[in-house]
Amino acid sequence: MSQRFWSDLTRELSPYVPGEQPKHPSLLKLNTNESPYPPSDAVLAAVASVSGDDVLRYPDPGAAELRGAISDFCGLKPEQVFVGNGSDEVLAHVFMGLLKHERPLLYPDICYSFYPVWCELHRVTAERVPLRDDFRIAVDDYRPDAAAVILPNPNAPTGLALELGDIERLLQASADRLIVVDEAYIDFGAQSAVPLIERYDNLLVVQTLSKSRALAGMRIGMAMGHPDLIEGLERIKDSFNSYPLDIAAQRAGVAAMGDRAWYEETRSQVMASRDALTGELQSRGFEVLPSAANFVFARHKSAPGKAIFDGLRERGVIVRRWDKPRIEDFLRISVGTDAQCKRLLAELDDILGEVL
Ligand code: PMP
Repeated sequence: MSQRFWSDLTRELSPYVPGEQPKHPSLLKLNTNESPYPPSDAVLAAVASVSGDDVLRYPDPGAAELRGAISDFCGLKPEQVFVGNGSDEVLAHVFMGLLKHERPLLYPDICYSFYPVWCELHRVTAERVPLRDDFRIAVDDYRPDAAAVILPNPNAPTGLALELGDIERLLQASADRLIVVDEAYIDFGAQSAVPLIERYDNLLVVQTLSKSRALAGMRIGMAMGHPDLIEGLERIKDSFNSYPLDIAAQRAGVAAMGDRAWYEETRSQVMASRDALTGELQSRGFEVLPSAANFVFARHKSAPGKAIFDGLRERGVIVRRWDKPRIEDFLRISVGTDAQCKRLLAELDDILGEVL
């Protein structure tokens, strides 16, 4: 009964439930939007270069080399870049350090389901803004008098992207409203807001190396924006954990940012596989929202989402589904290799033959 030591906050939390990470080799894991391809040899060599002498010291708390590599890639200065242990940690700091105000934070009612968890943890007042009937975000629905807006672009789990002009309209509606764009999936076809950073000090862009750089297991995320916003995040970091990125992650991140050829080739392959998978799903009676991400969000015209989800699970294919109004019939399917997509489609044919 040691739960008596829990604080009231601990007792009240409803923690985020991450997608499963089962280890069985025959399972096809299409549930957490990881890269289906391993990172480049340069990244693996960087990780292997870590020696005993390296690990007996603390890593660079400011991750200067990594911030330099990211700022070079993005055309920014290092003081416009913050790094953390996955973009989840970066976002947690953003909620604590930049989004908690008397006026509310706004975010879409269907988006990354970690946002309400951070609001609860950090006591952030928030309002959810419904997606339109076509599941799109309409930027004019977001009140200019709010303290801030956070939205994923492309949105997760829908995969739908906003145009850069829409982001700029959000930024221009009020200079006193911080706009945080969570670009976890930006490298698969949408337009990044990073070029707007020079012109808008109310913009913060959050990205990750988990998806397009195949480094989910290394936990590297970043935020980019005006140096004052970055300084705010540094203040939170240095009041929480000064060394969020270990030496292996810092080296892997530098190597990943430097390997442009691998990045371009892999993301093109994922986008081509996504478009092929979309066509195959449509030909089987699925409605597929137009995705600019490394996953698709799809529902079948006649088979219920739960039946397909359960059928896939029984056959060793794991995808993601939420038991929530409006989206309960949708499955979010991460784009795999072409061979993995082929297996998924074969299992779907089998299930649809039974269910329909
Ligand atoms: N933002 C969104 C929209 C995501 O889907 C994810 C992945 N679950 C993240 C942020 C966090 O990714 P990571 O912590 O691996 O950088």
